[in-house]
Parts: sequence; C-alpha cells; structure tokens
Amino acid sequence: MMAMIKTPLVFAAISDIAGKVRGKAFPASDLEKRLVKGVGWTPTNVMITCFDAIAESPFGALGDLLLIPDSTTGVALDFGDGTPVEHFLLSDITELDGKPWGLCTRSILKRALERLKAAGGVSLVSAFEHEFQFKTGGDQPGEAYTLSGFTDRRAFGETLMAALEQGGLAPDTFMKEYGANQYEVTNGPDQGLRAADSAVILREITRMTAKRLGEEVTFTPIRDPKGVGNGVHIHMSFLDESGEPATYDENGVAGMSAVTASFIAGVLKYLDAIVALTAPSDISYLRLTPHRWSAAFNNLGFRDREAAVRICPVSAIAPSNIARQYNFEYRAADAAASPYLALAAIVHAGAQGIEEGLPAPAVSQEDLSVLSGDDLEQRGYVRLPQSLEEALQRFEINETVCGWFPGDFAAVYTAHKRGELDWLKDKDIAERCAAYEEIY
Ligand code: GLU
Ligand code: MG
Repeated sequence: MMAMIKTPLVFAAISDIAGKVRGKAFPASDLEKRLVKGVGWTPTNVMITCFDAIAESPFGALGDLLLIPDSTTGVALDFGDGTPVEHFLLSDITELDGKPWGLCTRSILKRALERLKAAGGVSLVSAFEHEFQFKTGGDQPGEAYTLSGFTDRRAFGETLMAALEQGGLAPDTFMKEYGANQYEVTNGPDQGLRAADSAVILREITRMTAKRLGEEVTFTPIRDPKGVGNGVHIHMSFLDESGEPATYDENGVAGMSAVTASFIAGVLKYLDAIVALTAPSDISYLRLTPHRWSAAFNNLGFRDREAAVRICPVSAIAPSNIARQYNFEYRAADAAASPYLALAAIVHAGAQGIEEGLPAPAVSQEDLSVLSGDDLEQRGYVRLPQSLEEALQRFEINETVCGWFPGDFAAVYTAHKRGELDWLKDKDIAERCAAYEEIY
C-alpha cells in the first residue's frame, strides 16, 4: 500500500493527579513556537479521574491554562516497524502569565527538590523500579524468575530496552518477576526532576512496546488479591554540593549519613499521611498488606523486603564504592501515582525530617505483623492505612503535610480521589481490580 499524506504531530504531555498522561498534540513544525507559547489547557481537567468521571470541580467551566513543553524531555521513538514515530514532550502547567499552576504535579516536585536542597544541602538522585503484568499470552505457571519465563518475553524485553534508550533513558535490567505473568524493568538513576520524567516516559514506552507486539500490559497495583502486587520501588541517594555521594557514613546506623537518617526518619514519621499520594488507588491497599513483600508498617528495613523503606545491598568492598552505590528505596508506591506526586510527597517528608533534625530510625528485623498493637506503639510503628479513604483522612488532617503543597492542592486532591471512590462504590473487590487493570 502507498503511504498516505501526513503531518507529524508532537504531543505535549503531563502526568496528572490520576496518574494518567494527558495532553494535546500539534504539528511538529510548530515545536519551536510551542516551546514558548505552549498549548491551551483547562483547569477542570485536573478533576478527570482515572475512570473518566469528573469529580466535583471548584473550577467548573472556567479558566485557562497553558501546557509548556520542556525541550529537555523530548522523546521521538521510531520502532522501525513502519508505525508512526511516537513523538512527545513532558510539560509544565502554567497560568497564562507563565507562573506555575498550583496543581501542576511537575512544578510541585520542583519545589520539593528545592526544599530538600535548602534543608539538607543535597540534591536527589533516584530511579523508579517498575513491576507490571502481561494481560495477554496466557498463564505461565512455575515461571517465577525463570529463564524460560524470561525467554517467553525476550523479544519484548529487547525491543523495550532499545525503545527506552531511544527515549533517552538508560535501560538497566529486565526480568521475569515472581507473580503471575509479572515482569520488572529498571532504568538507571537520574538527578532531580529527571528521575520522575524518566518514570513517566518508561511507563508509556512499556505500554507502547507491548501494543506494537500485539500484547497488553498493566502496571495496576494488584490484579489478583490472592497474588502479589505490582510495586513501584523508588531508589534514592544524595549528592552534596560538590557532586560527591552524601548518603553513606560507615559509622552511621546501618550506614546512613546524618542527612539520610533524618530524611528517612521524616519519611517514616509522615508515611501514614503521604501514602494517600504514593499509593493512591482504592486497590493499592490490598497490596499494602503483610507478606506480600510490599509495605504494611512505617518501618525501615536493612535488606528486608517487607519494609516501607529499605536500605539496599551494595556489592562493593572499597568504602569509596560503597558510598557511591549506597541507596535506600521507598516501597509503598505504585503506578496509580503520578511519579511527580509520589516523589514530591517523599521528598517533602524527608526534607521535613531534616528540618526537624530527626535522629536515625531503628532498623526493624522481624515480622511486625505478629506484634500486638501495644508492642507496635511502644516501638513507634504505625500500621499504614488500610483503605484509600483512611489514607485520605490521615492526609487531610495532617496540617504539616498539607502545608507542603500549594494552597488548594489538598482539597482538590481529596475531592478528586473521593470522586474516584464514588465511581467504584457498587463494585466488589474483583470488579475493582478488573476496573483498575484496564486503566493502569
Ligand atoms: N511485588 C512486590 C511489591 O508489590 C515487590 C517484590 C520485590 O521485592 O521485588 O512491591
Ligand atoms: Mg521486584
């Protein structure tokens, strides 16, 4: 067949409160112009839930905003199979005068990173590790971590790695995870905002790759309540002002430097209030239960996969290499969350911990789910919220946490999420899981 006429389009994208990537496209020849004057956007779009229902909006039909694409985030991905080049850029949402809009998730993260720098004199390096499941291709019993399970999707993995590289990411690993039809993809660490940009790009490219190969994947927090969930583990470390690693101290508790210790202590202190932002779907709370290798308490683990924050292993002997590799991961996140909001919440909590001068948290080394309520309380552990509604309440009553975000963010966020819950109200657990796996 002869190729038809076409005008290549560029998509200006945002990752919003619903964790969806939305935006608008324009001819690629207008890109230079659009980098400056942007493309129009509507405030009420922030209330479009993941199920398309519009939650009660304070904006109604009023107002105008701009999406301003960031030229450093461009992805132009040619799969080489004759299908259109996937060309998109990540964008900030601004007012018409160019000021960041208070509900722009990317701008919210920028502010959090600035606060961290001011509080701790460090910049963040981070990487998002993603688990996902194939919805196509049938069951794969007995394939946890296997070569044959990997081989089943070698073609997918190889195309994905090439696509990520073309998209400007540094592919790291691809493997068959433990769960049914579950795989994991990781990419290299990035500085500051770029890490969240990379996570947004990675999810989209993973979905695009699957579609190109006639498959479908889902990053939903959990598909089957009897199985394990799909986590997003956010690995973090710090650089000081001269660019030297600042996360590790060989004399610190479990190797934590003072700034790491206070940062993690802040994350744990505010965890029950920020989980509404990092695990923001109704079914996220099926995943955040004991014995699923996710997170059920606000504990720090040393190489323990049942901890909300885990100090990760290093494979180096020389202290200078240890300092460079040493990192910790936040495990109570999933892909229903915009990477910008999840990281902003964690970074604010950490910066708050630094500002409060919190001491190093204790490292838990046992199964906290068998402890009594009194024992947990005595040791300062909190069971994380067990539903999204409970999480939203812990968020909105915490004035400190709400105060980290621009004026009306907390009210808008909780109204949006309650709109999402309302859409689900007549559905049972299986129907809820089925609804979310269509979305994420
Ligand atoms: N699937 C687990 C989760 O929901 C994580 C398993 C792992 O440690 O990689 O977070
Ligand atoms: Mg994993």
